[in-house]
Amino acid sequence: MVSTQGRKRLVIGNWKMHGSLGANAALLCAVADGAKGLPETGVAVCAPFPYLAQCRELLAGSPVAWGAQDVSAHLQGAYTGEVAAPMLAEFGCGYVLVGHSERRAYHGETDALVVAKAARVLEAGLTPVICMGETLAQREAGETEAVVGAQLDVALDLLHADQLAKVMLAYEPVWAIGTGKTATSEQAQAVHAFLRGRVDARNAAAAKTMPILYGGSVKPGNAAELFAMQDIDGGLIGGASLAAADFLVICGA
Ligand code: PEP
Repeated sequence: MVSTQGRKRLVIGNWKMHGSLGANAALLCAVADGAKGLPETGVAVCAPFPYLAQCRELLAGSPVAWGAQDVSAHLQGAYTGEVAAPMLAEFGCGYVLVGHSERRAYHGETDALVVAKAARVLEAGLTPVICMGETLAQREAGETEAVVGAQLDVALDLLHADQLAKVMLAYEPVWAIGTGKTATSEQAQAVHAFLRGRVDARNAAAAKTMPILYGGSVKPGNAAELFAMQDIDGGLIGGASLAAADFLVICGA
């Protein structure tokens, strides 16, 4: 599960708001079975909250971890509809996505809120995957580094050094998510190297070990090229994580 750079290699499926008990059972069993043949890669799935129990049951004893797609920035209280990080921890989750572009776009999540959520996840002993990325308009305006740099800086400012060492990042250009358009491996590597350099400027130890995943229309046909890049430590996979065969090919890449 460790790259030649000594960093954890991981592929996480983001099911988004898809699934049913029947379809999930088939998918989870196939992924659990296939992942046994992939000892080099950590594999995880992030499922909608109601299906976490099913993940826990069907993935028990398998090499596949599971996680949630969001979390509350609060620990407990009158926050109807929210789910707290200690609840996810009690349940056995390993990972929690925070700041996915769909949360930022449809729920108005700010960088500060995203990092507050990451802090709750860390306090609960889980691993946050902090998602960041630019829109097409921002890329075309030459603002990619300014945008992702600003998103990252809030985490660098608000998290302690020991917390940063436990964070994962996911670079997900918004224009590549669910669109079928993927960043070229060179475009993705350039942003990953930029992000790692920015972490390095504040915390060299964390920069060396921090996994930075790429997400955005990763498919069986493009995963190997992306994952071969020096600063790309794996992927966050949306659509293709819903088909076990595709997801396993990506995990094997
Ligand atoms: C995602 O939802 O994080 C994602 C990367 O989606 P897709 O792979 O479908 O582009």
